[in-house]
Amino acid sequence: MADYDYDLFVIGAGSGGVRAGRLAAQLGKRVGVAEQSMPGGTCVVRGCVPKKFMVYGADYGAAIKHAEGYGWKADNVRFEWPVLRDAIQNEVNRLSGIYSTILEKNGAVLHRERATLVDAHTVKLQDSGKTFTAETILIAVGGSPWSPDLPGVEHTVVSDDLFHLETLPKRMLIIGGGYIACEFAGVFAGLGSQVIQAYRGGRLLNGFDAEVRDAVGDVQRNNGIELRFNTSPTRVSKTDGGLITTFDDGTKIGADMVLMATGRRPMTDSLGLENAGVTVEENGAIKVDEYSRTTQSNIFAVGDVTNRVNLTPVAIREAVAMIETVYKDNPTAYDHDDIASAVFTRPAVGVCGLSEGEARRRYGDDLTVYTTGFRPMKNILADDPQRCFMKVITKGEEETVIGVHLVGDESGEMIQMIGIAIKAKLTKADFDRTCAVHPTIAEEIVTLKPREINKTTIVT
Ligand code: NDP
Repeated sequence: MADYDYDLFVIGAGSGGVRAGRLAAQLGKRVGVAEQSMPGGTCVVRGCVPKKFMVYGADYGAAIKHAEGYGWKADNVRFEWPVLRDAIQNEVNRLSGIYSTILEKNGAVLHRERATLVDAHTVKLQDSGKTFTAETILIAVGGSPWSPDLPGVEHTVVSDDLFHLETLPKRMLIIGGGYIACEFAGVFAGLGSQVIQAYRGGRLLNGFDAEVRDAVGDVQRNNGIELRFNTSPTRVSKTDGGLITTFDDGTKIGADMVLMATGRRPMTDSLGLENAGVTVEENGAIKVDEYSRTTQSNIFAVGDVTNRVNLTPVAIREAVAMIETVYKDNPTAYDHDDIASAVFTRPAVGVCGLSEGEARRRYGDDLTVYTTGFRPMKNILADDPQRCFMKVITKGEEETVIGVHLVGDESGEMIQMIGIAIKAKLTKADFDRTCAVHPTIAEEIVTLKPREINKTTIVT
């Protein structure tokens, strides 16, 4: 057997890479990890974590306003962006430090530079020029923001940039209708910017349940965000008065900052994949089988670089499954069905299972749909117009719950619990047997009545 420098070499110290590296090291494997940026990856450094802090920051502003309805007088309130920005960065630095410590404490060697593949068993570090051989290689390099190639796109920013802004924009234009566009529109509107969100489609959050998409439109409008639909930018020009974005319908929008939230792409460019026999799909994602094995049998890939379900907890589960497969003689394919997730609009969206459109495509009319919409109790005294929307979709006579869709306060928290019920294939009768917790928002989920109008035309 060849004598390798490492048993496992991991490229990318994000959520997936760090988990795999740590677990392998704990099993006594010799592990090397390369990271070109800060350990922690997108989630910790420029994604979920700093974004959620910004959501909390925006929510505090709203809470101060809403508290008036509860008798609190808060005079001379002002927001200081540098305080929030720097506090977030400090926490990000602390967490990133924990990620490197976790690796090193367990005996993995962290190389803080970019690595590329020389062949199926060799990696090269870019700065030092060192090469290492490894029996197994894991590629967990994630993705990065992608912007369309418009004239003037260099004047725009992407989500990575938002955590380091000198000042908050007074007028912000956000291009896109997906997760990142919707979340940051809510954040910046909450922090005091005038926000316009422009999307090329007719409803935000493509791929979500149609009624959720409509409810999210209402959420955004209630937060003071102006929505423009069915419009795509064609150019961005820099003028003395700010940035002017021209759209394909001839409209122009002026702003101090333009955020391109037009998707993310796997970071597979110049990784040397071709040297190692690793095949990529047309969109740049590494092709893997259900065990996260690439087209080269000793090379695995997990997380956003494989463009399966691009969420941190999924990357972690894929990494754990890879360790089971490679080192524990327990081939494990992570099950990507029924993954609960949240979009942190304000309030949030929580989703698990199938949309009504998808459920109808799969099961036709063998469904029962339950919905409700209401203004949560807290918002009444607060004079807050935001509402809650809930939808439960069941299949067959036994009424197995196959989809739950929530929009409203605490949806991100609720959907985690609902995810357990869906994974366990519980039925509507199981939900209904569960006594309500009163008074809560969540109690509505165990008392839902079938939707009166059968909206069979809803397809998304
Ligand atoms: P999304 O795919 O969610 O959204 C991209 C948006 O850009 C879509 O509205 C898309 O339109 C639009 N778009 C794409 N190309 C163009 C173009 N050429 N011109 C105009 N608009 C365009 O990507 P995000 O970057 O928002 O998020 C990436 C992924 O990261 C998500 O899918 C999710 O998996 C993950 N994520 C998860 C979060 C969470 O869990 N809370 C938070 C943030 C990200 P169309 O819909 O018509 O294609």
